[in-house]
Parts: sequence; C-alpha cells; structure tokens
Amino acid sequence: MGQQESAHILVAGAGLAGLATAVWLAEAGHRVTLVEKRGRLGGRTISFEVSGIEGRVDNGQHLFAGCYDALLRYVDTIGTRDELLWDTPPFAIKTGPGELLTLRAPSWLPSALRRAVGLSWMVWPPIPLRERPAALRTWARILRASRRPTPELDGLTVDRWFKQIGAPESLRALVLDQFVIGLLNERTERVSASMFVQTLHWIGNRALAGNTRAGDAVWPRVSLHELFVAPAERYLKERGGEIFVGSGVGDIEITDDGLTGVRLSDGRVIEVDAAVLALPPWSLTTLLDRGRLGQYDHFTPARKIEPAPISSVYVWLDRPLRMRRLAENLRDTTIEWVFDTTGMHGEKTEAGHCYSLAVSASWDVVHLPNAEFTAAALESLAKHYPEVAEAEVLRTHVIHQPQATFSAQPGFDDLRLPQRTPIEGLFLAGDWTDTGMPSTMEAAVESAVRAVDAVREYLRDRVPTRTAD
Ligand SMILES: Cc1cc2nc3c(=O)[nH]c(=O)nc-3n(C[C@H](O)[C@H](O)[C@H](O)COP(=O)(O)OP(=O)(O)OC[C@H]3O[C@@H](n4cnc5c(N)ncnc54)[C@H](O)[C@@H]3O)c2cc1C
Repeated sequence: MGQQESAHILVAGAGLAGLATAVWLAEAGHRVTLVEKRGRLGGRTISFEVSGIEGRVDNGQHLFAGCYDALLRYVDTIGTRDELLWDTPPFAIKTGPGELLTLRAPSWLPSALRRAVGLSWMVWPPIPLRERPAALRTWARILRASRRPTPELDGLTVDRWFKQIGAPESLRALVLDQFVIGLLNERTERVSASMFVQTLHWIGNRALAGNTRAGDAVWPRVSLHELFVAPAERYLKERGGEIFVGSGVGDIEITDDGLTGVRLSDGRVIEVDAAVLALPPWSLTTLLDRGRLGQYDHFTPARKIEPAPISSVYVWLDRPLRMRRLAENLRDTTIEWVFDTTGMHGEKTEAGHCYSLAVSASWDVVHLPNAEFTAAALESLAKHYPEVAEAEVLRTHVIHQPQATFSAQPGFDDLRLPQRTPIEGLFLAGDWTDTGMPSTMEAAVESAVRAVDAVREYLRDRVPTRTAD
C-alpha cells in the first residue's frame, strides 16, 4: 500500500523537456495532459519520413555523452536503454585523407586508463614542440577554472579568454576551438567563457562521482522518434495521460491565488492544479507578447535569448566510406562532422550507406540554398575521403535548423530562469532554464528533473493525496 499523488497537471511543449516532465509526473501517479503546438511530438528531437527512404530520418545527428545521467534515467523509464550504442570518446580529428588523430589505447589497459590514454592527445597534441609548454599551461588554466567556475567569466567570450590565458594558435586550430563549438554549438568569438567552464565543471563532477564512462560517446541505434518519442507517448497513454497536438498554449488563467488553468490557442480552457511550460525561449516570448505572462517582469530575460543554427545534409552513397570511427571531425572544410548513420544503426538499407554531414554554429551556410550547400558538403567529403570520387551519390537531404540551440553569449547566466516561477502553480522547463548546462538534450531532461521536483513539492501541501491499494 503506498501514497499515490493525483493532481491534474498540464505540460506544454513535447520536446525532451516536456516529454520527460510528463512521463515522470505520470509515473508519480498524476493525471497529465500534454499539449504540443505542432502536429507532432518531439520538438528538436524529431524524425520524419523522406520519400524513397525506409524508416525515419532524424532532424540532425544527436550525440550524447556517458555523463548524460538524466537522459539515461529517462530512457530507463520509457524502456529504450538497449537502443543506445556506447562508443569510446568521440574526438577523432581528420586533418586530411588517411590522417586521423585518434588514439586507440591497448586493450590490456584497465578501461578507465584506456579512456584517459585515448584522450591524452588533446592535452599533448601534435603541434610544434616549442608551443607544447604553452598548450599544457592552457589546459591547466582551463582545468583550474572549471573546478570552480566564477561569475566574472560570463563577461568574456571564449575567444577573449583564450587570448588572455595565452592559448597557442596551433592548439586552438587543431583542438580547442572545435571542442568548444562541439560542446556549445557557438563560435568562440560569440560564446561565453562561463558556459564553457560550467560545462566542463558538470562533466568533471559526474566523472569524479564515479561515472567512469562520463566522456564516452553514446549513439542512437534507432531514430530519435523510436528512442524518445513513441515510447513516451505509449507510456503516457497507458497511464491515462491525454495528448493534444496541433494547438498550443495561448495564455494562462490566473487568480490572486495563482494559476487555475491554461487557455489553448483554439480557445479551449483546461482547468488544472499546476502547469509546466516546457517551451523554447523564443516561443515563450510569444506568450509574453500576447498574454497575461507579459505583466510579470520575471520572464523578461527570456526575450534576450537568441538561437544558434545547425545545418546538415544526409548523403546516401552506393558504397561505404573508409571511416575508422563512427564520427570524424574534419579540419579546413565547410563540413565539420561526418557521422556514419548506417554504422550506428547497424544496417545498410536499400537506399544505400547513409552519412550525416553536419556543421555546428552554421552561421556561414544556414542561408545557402540546398543545392549549393550540398555541393559544398560533397566537396568537403571528397577532400577527406578520396574514395567518394568513385562512389555514386544516390540521394541527399538537407536540413537547416536556424533555431537548433540557444546561443550562450556573455551575460547568458543572468538570462536563465529557474523552474519555479513567482506565479503559484506555474513552472518552467526547457534546455535554456537554469541547469548550468549548455543547450543539449541533457539540459532539457535535467530541467525536467528539477521541474518535476518543484511541482511535487508545491502540490504536496495543496492537493490531498489518496491512498492506493
Ligand atoms: C540539428 C540538431 C542537433 C543537435 N545535436 C545535439 C547533440 O548532438 N547533443 C545534444 O545533447 N543536443 C543536441 N541538440 C540540442 C537538443 O536537441 C535540444 O537542446 C533539446 O532537444 C531541447 O529540448 P527542449 O524540450 O528544451 O525544447 P524543444 O525540443 O524545442 O521542445 C519545445 C516544444 O514546445 C513546443 N511549443 C512551442 N510553443 C508552444 C506552445 N505555445 N504550446 C505548446 N507547445 C509549444 C515546440 O513545438 C516544441 O515541440 C541538437 C539540436 C538540433 C536541432
């Protein structure tokens, strides 16, 4: 016999933050209504059908790390952990045809040591000997700063900070700048140094807490829809949850006592005990402009948060590339990443061998027409993989995402809002809310962990609990 919670809670937004919030509130026994403005669930982790391709294609390759504790808990809840493929750390830098900078440590070493050796070239990379002492000093400064992040760093871009600490250009060009862009999806001259060190701080903390696989790469073996979305939808429906798509939250209903309900954009009003808005900041801004939320200065910082783009093109070839890793990071070309999608999913389809060619913080290419972007991407590929000259390109599919992540520019720390709001019964979630993490799936799901805790604490005193048999 246990205590069962049973309030009615509305979750708005069915990206990872909203899905995880809804799933965990339903797990706690609440009646959940999930409302998504678009016609389908998934937010920025969606998959769709492309004509002539069997199965679904994701809106872009997503990489997780072994330190994504909240996301791993989420896949445990919805039962899809077996669909993850664990890999060694993903940093494999391709400087030219046949030249891949990656260390595979001997298999007889203990696994934790093997990982440390595998990463050692980052600290001691093949740059001119005379610059290696400065490279070591740079890493020491970065590690020291990430042990105890200080607010002053939020006044600086990473670029300015690297200059201040004397990071050698050779280290930046080979390793550091791409490492920052990979973690934060923003250029070093735009992104806050504070966000960079905070990111290393939480990864380091999870490693120090005993997670020896914190730095490992984790790839989805199935589409994001099968991994995160469809199982969550099933989970909610099995627990009596309602899901509305195609009509978003238009406004909230409030009295002096706090939130009483939510008005959808089609005019329906849903009375609830609490609501969680799991929306990106640029969607919250629309609510601030049009509804009652705009009367509260508390939400104003969200207006200042800007997005950053990611562009990618899927390419299906009639033969495999000679890749040594599932992801290789290219230097000196338009394309930054080549992901072996077929290798991750473990099977070649009739459409051919599929690769995702991606550019993070894709300010230079996000406005290019598809044909132009595809031509530049294929040129990058041919430069690093000469075998492309012999291959037939069977199909391509471009995805430009102008609002892929938030852009954590200097001052960003002050723009993040906590999950609890000054309006009783109203909560926030989403990757941009206060978690200390960059714009990632982990930040989205961690925000859900915090929003669920806040909602349950709020309800504990207000809604009578019933005793379950
Ligand atoms: C191409 C690409 C590649 C990426 N790669 C990685 C990666 O490798 N690793 C990683 O960790 N992260 C990656 N990310 C980032 C990650 O996907 C996001 O940080 C995360 O998915 C954000 O989840 P969220 O729930 O906070 O927001 P969203 O997924 O944006 O969800 C918000 C939802 O709210 C809905 N909504 C908006 N307004 C309303 C309204 N008024 N009412 C109801 N619903 C509304 C939206 O339609 C949306 O479905 C990538 C993102 C993209 C686009």
